[in-house]
Amino acid sequence: MNSLKLTNIGQLVTYDSPRDEMVVLENTEIGIEGNTIVEIGANLGDADQLINCNQKLVTPGFVDPHTHPVFLDGREDEFAMRLQGATYEEIAEAGGGIINSINGIRNSSESDLISPVKTRMDRFLSLGTTTVECKSGYGLNTKSELKSLKVIDEVNQAHKIDMIPTFMGGHAFPPEFKNDHDAYVDLICNEMIPAVAKQSIAKFNDVFCENGYFSFEQSRRILNVGKEHGLMPRIHADEFEDSGAAKLAGESGSISADHLMAVSDVGIRKMAENGVIATLLPGTTFFLGKSGYAPYQKLKDAGVEVALATDFNPGSCHIQSMPFILSLSCIAMKIPVLEAIKAATFTSAKSLFLNDTVGSIEIEKKADIIVWGIERAVQIPYLVSDHQIQNVVKNGVIIS
Ligand SMILES: [Zn+2]
Repeated sequence: MNSLKLTNIGQLVTYDSPRDEMVVLENTEIGIEGNTIVEIGANLGDADQLINCNQKLVTPGFVDPHTHPVFLDGREDEFAMRLQGATYEEIAEAGGGIINSINGIRNSSESDLISPVKTRMDRFLSLGTTTVECKSGYGLNTKSELKSLKVIDEVNQAHKIDMIPTFMGGHAFPPEFKNDHDAYVDLICNEMIPAVAKQSIAKFNDVFCENGYFSFEQSRRILNVGKEHGLMPRIHADEFEDSGAAKLAGESGSISADHLMAVSDVGIRKMAENGVIATLLPGTTFFLGKSGYAPYQKLKDAGVEVALATDFNPGSCHIQSMPFILSLSCIAMKIPVLEAIKAATFTSAKSLFLNDTVGSIEIEKKADIIVWGIERAVQIPYLVSDHQIQNVVKNGVIIS
């Protein structure tokens, strides 16, 4: 078995499970056998390969628990129109909006989609993301949702990054169901979810619960049918206004409620009572030019655990960089830097039920590690977007 040693680490910043807190270790080394961390300490023995960390910062690889990476083309033209003040209707008339992404998926073959998705995974990994949750949700019919999930599965098998698949037929209403939303919910529940479950190509089931999208009752039905088929619930909740989605997250046993810019006090209480993790997506608020960030401090004060994600997607947040999301979280939501690192590594892994294997640098965990080009954690928010990464190690293999 190949062994690897990281030496000359300046600061090792990680969540520490026995102490249940973030720790900063100095003058330490990391010993790796195969894909697993086996030793952390000073003066470790020899290894087949060495990384000299040059007294730089070392952290766990990022776990990004919310992305929509299966689409054909970017939507930069509608972005430019929006910057010039175009309305949603004007963008839709010009062929933009989600319909653009729906047509892209429906008119593409699996092999057309594999290449762009693979390129996006290369980019995630180079930015230090070693595990990424990936949603379907631009096909919005049975065939195209299955196609999207198959693309995730195929890229995942060939790529070094770990991709965690989520079915999201409940992302939006496709045009053919514009006037009969309940019929689309029937299609999701009676046809899509059973088909996805039969193929075992998704772990989670997500729904966009919001006024004007899927109602509280429709969302509840979609999540419950998913659970009956072995798909674990997570939810897009209270992004634009309070629709009771955070409350539904609590009632439905969702591991995570995401967005939450408009979450109510009752919703926060329900989340805390039921151990629902708040996955915050500040990149979307930023990308849409808004100022109402999710209430981090309120969530924390209520005892809700917080995770961070990019929400990478072609319409409302074309951001893949977790280092930038970390910086934005510190600046816009006033998250202390070590808390932000925990939210982007350990707690985000927990929101995917993966915290026993990834999300921290601890013995017996997977060797998913970032060796930074900077010395101290506090430089991550300070550098905003100009982050240097010396090496990414994924499953004990040096990627770059
Ligand atoms: Zn999303």
